[in-house]
Amino acid sequence: MTSYDAIIIGTGQAGPPLARRLAASGMAVAVVERGRFGGTCVNTGCTPTKTLVASAYAAHLARRGADYGFDTGGEVKVDMKRVKARQDYVVGLSTRGVERSLRAQENCRVYQGHARFVSPRELAVGSEILSAERIFINVGGRAAVPDIPGLGDIGYFINSSMMNVDFLPRHLLVLGGSYIGLEFGQMYRRFGSEVTIVEIGPRLTPREDADVSDAIAGFLAREGIALRLNATCVSVSRRGGDVVMRVDCRDGAPEIAGSHLLIATGRRPNTDDLGLEHAGVALDRRGFITVDDELRTNVPGIWALGDCNGKGAFTHTSWNDFEIVAANLLDNGHRRVSDRIPAYALYTDPPLGRAGMTEAEIRRSGRRALVARIAMEDVSRAFEKGETEGFMKILVDADTKEILGASFLGTSGDEAIHCVLDTMYARAPYTVLQRAMHIHPTVAEFIPTMLDDLAPLAEPALQG
Ligand SMILES: Cc1cc2nc3c(=O)[nH]c(=O)nc-3n(C[C@H](O)[C@H](O)[C@H](O)COP(=O)(O)OP(=O)(O)OC[C@H]3O[C@@H](n4cnc5c(N)ncnc54)[C@H](O)[C@@H]3O)c2cc1C
Repeated sequence: MTSYDAIIIGTGQAGPPLARRLAASGMAVAVVERGRFGGTCVNTGCTPTKTLVASAYAAHLARRGADYGFDTGGEVKVDMKRVKARQDYVVGLSTRGVERSLRAQENCRVYQGHARFVSPRELAVGSEILSAERIFINVGGRAAVPDIPGLGDIGYFINSSMMNVDFLPRHLLVLGGSYIGLEFGQMYRRFGSEVTIVEIGPRLTPREDADVSDAIAGFLAREGIALRLNATCVSVSRRGGDVVMRVDCRDGAPEIAGSHLLIATGRRPNTDDLGLEHAGVALDRRGFITVDDELRTNVPGIWALGDCNGKGAFTHTSWNDFEIVAANLLDNGHRRVSDRIPAYALYTDPPLGRAGMTEAEIRRSGRRALVARIAMEDVSRAFEKGETEGFMKILVDADTKEILGASFLGTSGDEAIHCVLDTMYARAPYTVLQRAMHIHPTVAEFIPTMLDDLAPLAEPALQG
């Protein structure tokens, strides 16, 4: 048995920086990784998808050459082998960077293998037993694949296997109309595939406001993506070379055929093969590790960070988990998960930047609110770029003047949203942002102008 001061399981977004901080503080640290260094974000999540989104965007702009005054001299064809090579290059830099930084770190030993608890203080990794007084779980999650009759027999993709695709699917069926499904759906349409997105609910991105969902559905449909809403996949089979999905639906055909199928119906935590029962670590009913506001599990000396604790599902939430744990352990801090404001982006083109509550959540809260909205076609920078899809919306509390939330669906919406987010963190009234002088021409310059037009949120509550 080898003893350490701290063991970290998983090299996602929280584990590596925490390992470096603990080791730099003088602790003897072990890091265990069973797969590729950097976890989901680096290998099968943010990094490869945003790299692919960039290729898809370039192809899209090239096809729109006439709008900008140039000619590409023929049909724009995407070479998927080169697109994948670019993705592999970017991912390779990132994953090697994570591995190198851990191996080079003084006081830190890296183990490659699957870690399982054998007691609250001990882990088995292969034939070795490692022990520590402090154990940090950063095991992340994986695609949740629904139990659909026929699925096991036909062959399908999930986010991780999509990263190996170096050919153009003739017709990609995407099951799931939320963030992952929409990003893949739009990029493959732009690469040249036919794409059909099948969503069980009445609209895409069901957690967003209906006006946001409708605008996203509008620009995806205008790019030629077929959307099947209110469609429940009841079975799948192979017919000839095709995947055939049978759907329970009110509108449209009961069968949808395509050449390939991507399952994008959500994520599940990697907590089922971790031996947590030997440590007594509690899980919730969906398998997420139960943690308190400082990310401590029910077992003293064991923390859970990142997607596996169910407190966030993003790279930035996992990184923020690291910051909370490191500050509280090493800097005498009092940081809490509940201090953070929900924020994320959807990387369709245009992207959606989100901060705080949605309009539907604000209506449900019963607060008196004011709202301001501007169409991207009225934003000069968007107009100049020829990218006028979408709108920006900000909601503020009518009594306290604090900003409650914002949805920026438009070019640079993922960046401009940070003006709102930082004002919210400062707990400053919206008037601070309203009076700020922003730079022309930017998307963010319209935020102060929008705030001049705040109006009461109309009754009655229509969204839900
Ligand atoms: C397609 C896709 C796109 C995404 N895009 C974005 C985006 O644009 N922005 C964003 O913020 N988020 C995005 N996400 C989410 C983001 O990738 C995750 O939230 C992020 O990676 C945080 O993960 P984590 O730190 O919890 O662990 P992970 O990154 O999942 O890493 C966990 C690590 O633990 C290892 N591991 C698991 N079990 C064991 C074990 N028993 N022993 C040893 N090692 C183990 C795994 O091999 C893995 O390396 C995306 C996700 C997907 C799937």
